[in-house]
Amino acid sequence: MAEERLRFIEEEIGRLKEENLFINIRTIESAVDGWMVVDGMRVLNFCTNNYLGLANHPRLREAAQAAIARWGVGPAAVRSIAGTTGLHVELERRLAAFKGVEDALYVQSGFNANQAAIPPLVGREDVIFSDRLNHASIIDGCRLAGAKVVVYEHCDPADAEAKIREHLPNFRRGLLITDGVFSMDGDIAPLDGLYEVAARHGVLTMVDDAHGEGVLGRGGRGIVDHFGLHGRFDVEIGTLSKAFGVVGGVIAGKKLIVDFIRQKARPFLFSSATTPADTGACLAAVDLLEESEALVRRLWENTAYLRAETQNLGFDTGKSQTPILPIMLGDVGLAKQFSRRLFEEGVFAMSIGFPTVPRGLARVRVMNTAAHTRADLDFGLEVFARVGRELGVI
Ligand SMILES: *Cc1c(COP(=O)(O)O)cnc(C)c1O
Repeated sequence: MAEERLRFIEEEIGRLKEENLFINIRTIESAVDGWMVVDGMRVLNFCTNNYLGLANHPRLREAAQAAIARWGVGPAAVRSIAGTTGLHVELERRLAAFKGVEDALYVQSGFNANQAAIPPLVGREDVIFSDRLNHASIIDGCRLAGAKVVVYEHCDPADAEAKIREHLPNFRRGLLITDGVFSMDGDIAPLDGLYEVAARHGVLTMVDDAHGEGVLGRGGRGIVDHFGLHGRFDVEIGTLSKAFGVVGGVIAGKKLIVDFIRQKARPFLFSSATTPADTGACLAAVDLLEESEALVRRLWENTAYLRAETQNLGFDTGKSQTPILPIMLGDVGLAKQFSRRLFEEGVFAMSIGFPTVPRGLARVRVMNTAAHTRADLDFGLEVFARVGRELGVI
């Protein structure tokens, strides 16, 4: 028994365990790739956001090593004091060119990018219109800004417009924020419709394209490219921790806005720069994406096959339009059991329950990548079928 003042922690943990919501964290014992060693077992990896297989790509590994050889391992400063190296400047220039925007700011993570970008744009006198299923980092960025948050129904421009009409007149300015690809359902935000609504009412716009960067659009240029909305969205948030295979976040858009965020963003001003190894590896990822669309094409071929065959087996894959493939199971206990049985049979795919998804909508989330072969996918499908029948899901 813990001391009296710590008892609340024991009680809360007990409650999480009772409700099947306690997270057991597995240990990865190899590089991130199509197959990995996890808790001592070699398993097919359907669990990571390594969409293009870059996390262990030889070109990125070499670039990281070369960056260490020239620049050392740590920045020992925040970007605005002495932490902006030539590598950072080069990466920002290359990211802006890749995405077809005027300027880009590379920060420590996608999570940080939202903390950095939202508070400078809106404050207590303002209102944020936010999709019901927006990512936690957007929600926290909105909280930090202190603006009034009005939630509109998921992927519903008409509801967003109704909310804007109702609330905008009571505030100084408005900002509409949406995920690009929703990370738990794999559906794509209707960016064209949202843009029209926001433009009609003079509302600022921001899209967080963490799961679309390197995935959607021509050669992985992201959701704005997918919809042909270049220059329309005021701020594009991205991450280099998913398809780009490394770590970091990006804030991209008009130079006026990005320059402003450089002056104001607290994670940029008060937390150290990313390391040379990370920054160098990200540059190599941009090189690869600019050289060839082969990895992006491979990812989408795998995605189409895996989704169709999973549905053919009789599974409910929800609203997925992207490589994020939820196998909808409903009950969180069933989802946990499904994931555990997959793992025992050599397939690593995590169950996801409340609070990450609403109660009663638990699922196992499957993520294929360009690092998977057709034989890998077939192995996975065979295991889905076996476990699905065993647990009475199909
Ligand atoms: C994953 C994710 C992030 C966080 O990105 P990191 O680089 O891992 O911090 C932010 N926003 C969305 C929508 C995400 O899916």
